[in-house]
Amino acid sequence: MKGRSIFRIPDRRNRDSFRCAATNRFSRELLPPPATFYARELSKLSRPSRGWARAICPFHKDRNPSLSVNLQTGGFLCFSCQAKGGSVIDFLMLRDGIDFKTAAKLLGAWTHGTPAGWHGDLARQRRHREERDATVNQVAHR
Ligand SMILES: [Zn+2]
Repeated sequence: MKGRSIFRIPDRRNRDSFRCAATNRFSRELLPPPATFYARELSKLSRPSRGWARAICPFHKDRNPSLSVNLQTGGFLCFSCQAKGGSVIDFLMLRDGIDFKTAAKLLGAWTHGTPAGWHGDLARQRRHREERDATVNQVAHR
């Protein structure tokens, strides 16, 4: 299981989200706990000391663990290659070369509002328009 990641990017991108842009938003409270995230993403995470754990750095060819990660905040810092960031989102963005939104989605912290409601509104609008047109037609044919 070493090196396997459940947070890898799926091959398709953003395809299902562009229509709902107005209701998309980032919810920090939906992010996984940094301790859980790093335990999955990094191999050989050391036992934490004062909230910080060490691991092999994925940002450079690391042989001794030189990456420190904060298991409370998600912040990370590599003493060898100077890679750093303040959250698990920063970590994903940097490691996978993706933007904020994509990283947030991968972590399940990007909500789509209520797509069902949004489409429901569209259907309701269409029905409303049809009813109105029907009324107009009735009037016109009198
Ligand atoms: Zn490094």
